[in-house]
Amino acid sequence: MEQGKTATTIGRFAPSPTGPLHLGSLVAALGSYVMARRTGGLWLLRIEDLDTPRVVPGMADDILRTLEILGFRWDGEILRQSRRTAVYQEALERLLREGAAYPCGCSRAEIARAASAPHPGEEGPAYPGLCRNGIPEGKTARSIRVHAGSEPIEFFDGIMGPQRTDLSHAGGDFVIKRADGPFAYQLAVVVDDALSGVTQIVRGADLLPSTPRQIRLQRLLGYPTPAYWHLPLVTGPEGAKLSKRHNAVSLASGRDLEREGHLILYNALVFLGQKPPKGLRDSSCAEVLAWAAAHFSPLSIPRIPGPFPSPAVT
Ligand code: GLU
Repeated sequence: MEQGKTATTIGRFAPSPTGPLHLGSLVAALGSYVMARRTGGLWLLRIEDLDTPRVVPGMADDILRTLEILGFRWDGEILRQSRRTAVYQEALERLLREGAAYPCGCSRAEIARAASAPHPGEEGPAYPGLCRNGIPEGKTARSIRVHAGSEPIEFFDGIMGPQRTDLSHAGGDFVIKRADGPFAYQLAVVVDDALSGVTQIVRGADLLPSTPRQIRLQRLLGYPTPAYWHLPLVTGPEGAKLSKRHNAVSLASGRDLEREGHLILYNALVFLGQKPPKGLRDSSCAEVLAWAAAHFSPLSIPRIPGPFPSPAVT
């Protein structure tokens, strides 16, 4: 760093356009925004539209419009992952060239059958490494995997505390280019965050299990590891998963959001453990965001999931 210059925090929000902005993603947008702005940092926006089968046409614009109505302003150009396959390809080729990644011909069913000790959970059984030393005869390459490595990955999460994962047990060698074509989220997110100079990742705790994989990729590609803050998840009534009806922030007309958006932001701050003054309930979105940037206390963010203060959507 040049002498006399202070490091700038670069945060980002990276929604997937698979539906309208929901309360969980609103909390991630707000959390990442204030954590960047409170130190005068930059806040970038990236549309994660690589998973084409799940992308819903028009949703990227819908999310952007909702963010704008809520008073969010981002820095620089919006990155769209669907236009960036060349940079992911470059990273993939480098990993292949360096022997850190390899083609895999296994189907999901074969992986499940071959797993000697299934590890229950989201990820399914750990990949048993059938193609690690070359694709067995009669099989063709379907996906590309990266070596999980034998060293446990350790990192400190600003909210969730110290973390330690042995990737070789938690899923094993993982996919960076999928059998159905697209680059995997894990690779794209790491390449994009590094090339954008992101220093701070604030997002929902549902992505906490992905972080060790991303740190593994950062190390293999020689990228720095940003600071991580995984925000508590929003639950529905009585701790249940949020239903679509309760969860959507974007309203059909957009008009109600213009009138009530500041209350949604206010409640999102309360959800994040903050104590905004009652008077802010009568102010604008811009005023709520400005208060948050000036007074946000990261240490007050709760670790445990909880319901969104009502009324979530009026
Ligand atoms: N696109 C991801 C999502 O909407 C977020 C990715 C990230 O923040 O790293 O869940």
